[in-house]
Amino acid sequence: MKCALVTGASRGIGRAIALQLSQDHQLYILVNYASNQEAAEETLRLIRAEGGDGELLPFRVQNKVEVDQALNDWKTGNPEKNIQVLVNNAGVTRDGLFMWMSEQDWDEVMDISTKGLFNVTQNAIQEMLRKRSGRIVNIASVSGMKGVAGQTNYSAAKGAIVAATKALAQEVAKRKITVNAVAPGFISSDMTSELNEAELKQMIPVNRFGRADEVAHLVSFLVSDKAAYITGEVININGGIYS
Ligand code: NAP
Repeated sequence: MKCALVTGASRGIGRAIALQLSQDHQLYILVNYASNQEAAEETLRLIRAEGGDGELLPFRVQNKVEVDQALNDWKTGNPEKNIQVLVNNAGVTRDGLFMWMSEQDWDEVMDISTKGLFNVTQNAIQEMLRKRSGRIVNIASVSGMKGVAGQTNYSAAKGAIVAATKALAQEVAKRKITVNAVAPGFISSDMTSELNEAELKQMIPVNRFGRADEVAHLVSFLVSDKAAYITGEVININGGIYS
């Protein structure tokens, strides 16, 4: 049975991606999250309500021991299932001006984005390489494309994801694994709930924040067979604020 692992799928963009991949591609969804079990269960309930299926798979992406233990135990217990699709979506912001940024805020954002990508991808890609088939989509950000003041840590982390996407895509293309990144602008979610949309939308040509399901449709296309010739790309989805 073909599965998709979506990190940070308990809420926001990750939840929307998990639902879309279930609906569009009939994939069994592994709903990863860090701590919010109730929200993750709601994601699973929504997947099942639409006729799909999946299970919860909690781990903190930045912790290699936790990642390997959770994924290896799951593989041992589910020999008939294999992860064909990986969406590295888990991410956090710890915003602040660089001159006052704590080492902890730098490390946390970098670890969850970049070390998380390393840990989860290195585990999941082994089977894709053996099966000569797979899809990896990394969720970057407009911050990693243009840099955003107050987000030096987050911009660095997302920029690293963009570069890693391009490099890895070249390594694994011959094995029919595509690796792409999606770079959203302002998307309504818990992450952006404190922001003033009325003010910020003035600098967005489309004049509104995006929706998580709009990002999910793009990810779903990149995961489809139709996108087999797209790899190493970064696709912006930001209402026109950066191109
Ligand atoms: P969100 O609503 O804050 O949700 C974050 C998700 O990541 C939650 O499911 C959370 O799990 C999970 N998570 C956090 N730390 C984790 C960890 N260490 N290990 C595993 N999972 C972890 O965020 P969002 O807005 O949906 O953002 C999703 C992705 O899109 C992030 O990579 C973000 O940087 C990126 N992005 C967002 C926007 C935007 O405007 N919203 C724009 C550009 C890019 P728990 O529920 O357990 O905490």
